[in-house]
Amino acid sequence: MPPDIRPVACARRPGFKLEKLKRFTAKDAEETYLVPHWAAGFFRVGEDGELEVTPEGPEGPSASLFEIVQDLRDEGRPLPVMLRFPQILQARLVALNEAFRRAIKKYHYQSEYRGLYPVKVNQRRMVVETLAKAGKPYAYGLEAGSKAELALILAQDLHKEALIACNGFKDDDFIRLALMGKKLGKNVVITLEKFAELERVIRIAQELSVEPQIGIRYKLKTRGTGQWEESGGESAKFGFTTPEIIRAVDILAEAGMLGTIAMLHSHIGSQVTDIRRIKQAVREIAQTYVQLRKLGAPVRYLNLGGGLAVDYDGSKTAFYASANYSLEEYAEDLVYVSKEVCDGHGEPHPILVTESGRAVTAYHSVLVLEVIDTIRPPGEEKIEQPRDTHPVVKDMFDLARGISAKNYREVYHDAFANKDTILNLYDLGLISLRDRATAEALFYQIARKTLRFALEFDYPADELEDLQKMLADKLVCNFSLFQSLPDSWAIKQMFPIVPLSRLNERPTREATLVDITCDSDGKFDRFIDTHDVRNTLPVHEIRPGEPYYLGVFLTGAYQDVLGMSHNLFGRIGEAHVVVDEDGYDIERFILGEKARRVIEKMGYEDDELAEAVEKLVRSSKKLTPAEKGAFMEQYARELVGYTYLED
Ligand SMILES: *Cc1c(COP(=O)(O)O)cnc(C)c1O
Repeated sequence: MPPDIRPVACARRPGFKLEKLKRFTAKDAEETYLVPHWAAGFFRVGEDGELEVTPEGPEGPSASLFEIVQDLRDEGRPLPVMLRFPQILQARLVALNEAFRRAIKKYHYQSEYRGLYPVKVNQRRMVVETLAKAGKPYAYGLEAGSKAELALILAQDLHKEALIACNGFKDDDFIRLALMGKKLGKNVVITLEKFAELERVIRIAQELSVEPQIGIRYKLKTRGTGQWEESGGESAKFGFTTPEIIRAVDILAEAGMLGTIAMLHSHIGSQVTDIRRIKQAVREIAQTYVQLRKLGAPVRYLNLGGGLAVDYDGSKTAFYASANYSLEEYAEDLVYVSKEVCDGHGEPHPILVTESGRAVTAYHSVLVLEVIDTIRPPGEEKIEQPRDTHPVVKDMFDLARGISAKNYREVYHDAFANKDTILNLYDLGLISLRDRATAEALFYQIARKTLRFALEFDYPADELEDLQKMLADKLVCNFSLFQSLPDSWAIKQMFPIVPLSRLNERPTREATLVDITCDSDGKFDRFIDTHDVRNTLPVHEIRPGEPYYLGVFLTGAYQDVLGMSHNLFGRIGEAHVVVDEDGYDIERFILGEKARRVIEKMGYEDDELAEAVEKLVRSSKKLTPAEKGAFMEQYARELVGYTYLED
């Protein structure tokens, strides 16, 4: 039986009745898709109903995303595609650094801010090089979590004072590479993540006769909030406990190396949604800084790690997809609390360091998907009543005809019960497939009418939500969730999704999205809302022959890197787009992975595959020579083709 009727507010859109009569404008679309709430000034809806990017902020130049995608199509570029906006990366980096500059000025902080970009968040060349360049005036640095990351970082052109932090577990080679970087004049800090690394650093530093700069990662008592709560706290994977810190100080003092302790590091976890946790963590780490100084360690850098959250759903709350604070508040709290703690003990203000990755990169890329098909639940078509049908089916016809504003709930509940009965009868062989099909179509018809009445007559109920889910269209989108939005699958991360065009038309359908992998997890059915999570996305009736693109926003952090080739759908193509007063320019297009590449990663050699297939074709007695030639040609073409659907 359907669940009890209880009032809920989430599924309803306010003023439903009146709304229907009014013209739907760009402003309405902005509210429907909450654009101003999550876009941080980088996206908006144009009067012509197309989604626009303003990569230098709302006052700067703009371009229509729909137009950019159409131009890419005209150039013969296939979808899905990732649009990247280097200007947004730069704008975020500037916003972060300027927020700290303002906070430092406001509180008369006697030192400075020196940010780091942790490349693990997105190691794409375009991302790292853009940030390195834009960060030069701010002596903005980079953070490595592995040897390979350090290798790419050492080759970047950074400001002389910019920090290079080496986090992550280390072997001798990692430490050697870091110390060579120091010897070459780079401002490298080796963050000790666990105690055993201390001995390695002392030994190799003596071997290479380099004076290291050591950072100590402190295991915060304070935990983050939301998905990454476990990154902080005493059970965290990384960091020194307080007895280990004391031992490290003693060992270094004995080796005459106390002066090498340059940084105190901590990382509370990513996407910390509640500012109170951040303040608490800053207080804790600042106290530890003070204590370390009292022990004679000349710590200069106080590193708060990452955690600066992105408001994915625009709700400005401590919900896991949101943040209850702004960049401004974050910077001010860090500066203020550090100052307060240091002043209390008469210690100098340290250089403040943060390692914000998500907040710097999330905004810069937009995943563009094309809807290639719609799967609709049954019951939208007219259903003829056969002369001779099972009594329960006949009852369903009566229910469908008799439903009204007065009785729709009762009718729906009866239909629900009938549906169960019919399934039981079917199992017993007492009802035909045709009758069952008719009854099911009628059930959906009744459900649809119920939903309409329920929305119109302000009868909020839990079952409304179930109905919306059940009656939603499924839009088949040409992409792999596992490749392009892995966090949506792995940790239920939410991303804003908006159609790129027709935003001055009222969306009349509700839909969920499915990808083209053969994995039933390859779906998107949680959408942003300021109060709750929506089960469906409002979309337009798709017109045949007219492209319908959906933009998935805030995908620049972690997604590119964590994406996987499930079903052998490879990395997608990407366009780097720069916008100016004269329009926009596609600076660069990077082709997506060819099928061959993805197959090779699994241990195959493409020429061996081609050879095996050729042998098979040659030995066939059924194919004509022309057919053989055509088949082998197609096979070869497939190996160098895009892995996604192309027609
Ligand atoms: C992942 C990570 C970061 C980045 O965190 P964000 O929440 O993306 O800013 C920073 N520091 C360390 C040590 C990390 O492991």
